[in-house]
Amino acid sequence: MIHKLDIKTNSQVELQEITDRVRDIVAASKIKNGICHIFVPHTTAGILVNEHADPSVVEDIAAQLDKMVPQKKNYRHLEGNSPAHIKASIIGDSRTLFIEGGKLALGTWQGVFFCEFDGPRNRSVMVKLTED
Ligand code: ZN
Repeated sequence: MIHKLDIKTNSQVELQEITDRVRDIVAASKIKNGICHIFVPHTTAGILVNEHADPSVVEDIAAQLDKMVPQKKNYRHLEGNSPAHIKASIIGDSRTLFIEGGKLALGTWQGVFFCEFDGPRNRSVMVKLTED
C-alpha cells in the first residue's frame, strides 16, 4: 500500500516541512520496526532530510542552490524550467528512513522537507512502509 500526501506549494522555490505528516502515517500503521520509503513522483521537485530546528538552514540551502544553478543560462530544454530539473536532480527524488519502536528514527535536528523548484503547484509525495 502506498500512502499519498497532497502538497500545495505557494512559491516557485519552497522547502516545505512534511515531517509530522510522515510521522502520522507511521503512527497510524502501528508498525513497530521497519522501513519508511519516501518518493517524489515529479521531475522538478525533490525530498530532503536536514535541519528543521532553525528554518534559516533550508533558506540557506535554497539560496545556494539558486547560486549554483542560475535562473538564466543557455539551457536547451524549451519548457524553460531547466534550473528546476537540475535542482531536483541534485536533491534527489527519494529518501529511506527507519522505523524503530513505532517511531521515525530521525536525529534530534532532522526534519523531512518537500522541495519545490517549479511552483506554485499541487504536488504529491508517496510514502511506503515495510515491516521487518
Ligand atoms: Zn521541464
